[in-house]
Amino acid sequence: MQTIKGASAHLALAPTRKFLQSDAGSHPSHSILFPICKRVSLLWSSGNRRSKMQQGVAKTAAAAASTFENGSDVGKNASYLTDPAELIKSVETFIFDCDGVIWKGDTLIDGVPKTLELLRSLGKRLVFVTNNSTKSRKQYGKKFETLGLTISEEEIFASSFAAAAYLKSIQFPLEKKVYVIGEVGIQKELEQAGISYLGGPEDGDKKIDLKPGQLMEHDHSVGAVVVGFDRYINYYKIQYATLCLRENPGCLFIATNCDAVTHLTDAQEWAGGGSMVGAVKGSTKKEPLVVGKPSTFMMDYLSKKFQIEKSQICMVGDRLDTDILFGQNGGCKTLLVLSGVTTLETLQSPENTIQPHFWAHQLSDLLSAQKLANV
Ligand SMILES: [Mg+2]
Repeated sequence: MQTIKGASAHLALAPTRKFLQSDAGSHPSHSILFPICKRVSLLWSSGNRRSKMQQGVAKTAAAAASTFENGSDVGKNASYLTDPAELIKSVETFIFDCDGVIWKGDTLIDGVPKTLELLRSLGKRLVFVTNNSTKSRKQYGKKFETLGLTISEEEIFASSFAAAAYLKSIQFPLEKKVYVIGEVGIQKELEQAGISYLGGPEDGDKKIDLKPGQLMEHDHSVGAVVVGFDRYINYYKIQYATLCLRENPGCLFIATNCDAVTHLTDAQEWAGGGSMVGAVKGSTKKEPLVVGKPSTFMMDYLSKKFQIEKSQICMVGDRLDTDILFGQNGGCKTLLVLSGVTTLETLQSPENTIQPHFWAHQLSDLLSAQKLANV
């Protein structure tokens, strides 16, 4: 897999770093034995979970030194966020992953509105980044609105937008088209960028009738195939994308993300965008350019757009292999929240090699900073 280093990188691609950290790494199935600690007292949920959480806090408390100069803590065990005020003071921008940080499915996570309000009142810039490409920025804006949050379109960066922004950044020729495996979010963003496309939902019902001599025609002006999460992926789309990539000279293969799993419902994990990308990788033997997390494309774009130093950014997410790696790859501070897919056991498992600077139970842990003067 390849990742893009910078909006102006064109096709100068750097090999990814720890990119395919298995999603198994963020599964709750790993178990480790925590040392027994009697002196820890935390207000947290009861029973077994409480006990494990307390032990985890004890384990990291010793490492809770408050120095977190950029990058210096990477590789060390994450510390529990004991001093939110210090973290808030040290950055000017917070980038949030959405699912598992702001909401879970269609439910807002407790304390989020107050926390965002606090950060805004302290003059912090807030940015919301999601690997989910099924919606455009405008559509995400509506979702925020439905949940009672006022977020402007300018503050939202979805991987659907990243795909269009990348193509614009390389001055994708206007006479060329994009073939889309994905949903309407990618199409809307391409449209807004003035880029022609085909495929997507329109090819959702297409079937292949394999009679003798059957040949599929394809458009030779397709200069890029963009693959994102697509609930209606089928053999027609895979074959069409394959033909474009194998037969159109210089045709780009762009992936919005390679997430192994996604959370379509709260009952189980579902096959993620990586499964659609994997189908096209399998048939073309080509590696995609990834524009979503953990590729640094969006971080570079944001940093340029808002003129922010990356050391002045804190990336907040619930996944190690996308959010935290994204922050690390971009040279930002990182905060893992346990309100989504990652458990404390996973974070502290010896098998986990991705350590954020800090971890917290949920975003509203930052609220304790409001008690402190002069944040
Ligand atoms: Mg998430």
